[in-house]
Amino acid sequence: MHLILLGAPGVGKGTQAKKIVEKFNIPQISTGDILRKEVREETELGKKAKAIMERGELVPDDIILNMMEKRLNEPDCQKGFILDGFPRTIPQAEGLDKILQNKENVKLKVIEIFVPEEEIVRRLTSRRICSVCGRDYNLILTPPPANGKCESCGGEIIQRYDDKEETIRNRLKVYNQQTEPLIHYYSKKGNLYRVNGLNNVEDVFKEIENILDS
Ligand code: AMP
Repeated sequence: MHLILLGAPGVGKGTQAKKIVEKFNIPQISTGDILRKEVREETELGKKAKAIMERGELVPDDIILNMMEKRLNEPDCQKGFILDGFPRTIPQAEGLDKILQNKENVKLKVIEIFVPEEEIVRRLTSRRICSVCGRDYNLILTPPPANGKCESCGGEIIQRYDDKEETIRNRLKVYNQQTEPLIHYYSKKGNLYRVNGLNNVEDVFKEIENILDS
């Protein structure tokens, strides 16, 4: 199974990806998670990406495609994968098509999760993450423990540096300009499905399961 989760930041791609991992046993590949790890470890790539991510802009396509070509060729990806946060531009989608051309039995499905912009801003300003393992919390829906330590690993829970309102607005602008054209790109190919992300996590997941089983 090969799946792309498409949608603006904050629509619940990461949350749904984790549920799909559990049920279908294929890896979640989140370019945002990979980049945040590079930033934490202060690698060359991390140093280049940090300022771009802080502004809510996109890391250049060639860097992302290089990174993803390596990742998708690793053994755990051979039975399939869930892409979360990639592709984000038309050149990235074209690059992904090239990477997948060399693989057998790929039947790509693309699921767009849709949530109105004001709800996205509300969700992202209340999002918190573990600075060590990346686990997601939300001040309204899934509040972190009072001691501020992650339930999974004990790491410190923080606000992502790009989850400030001004940066969120910029990320949404970047999404509308650079990523939304992918909806047309995949609908032309006939493999795009649309899911209402305003429903609760379980109902969204049921809809996704139906699409994946079809
Ligand atoms: P995310 O966790 O998916 O919201 O990504 C956080 C940030 O990482 C984005 O705002 C971008 O700066 C960068 N990023 C993640 N994925 C990509 C991608 N596919 N292309 C370019 N930049 C990306």
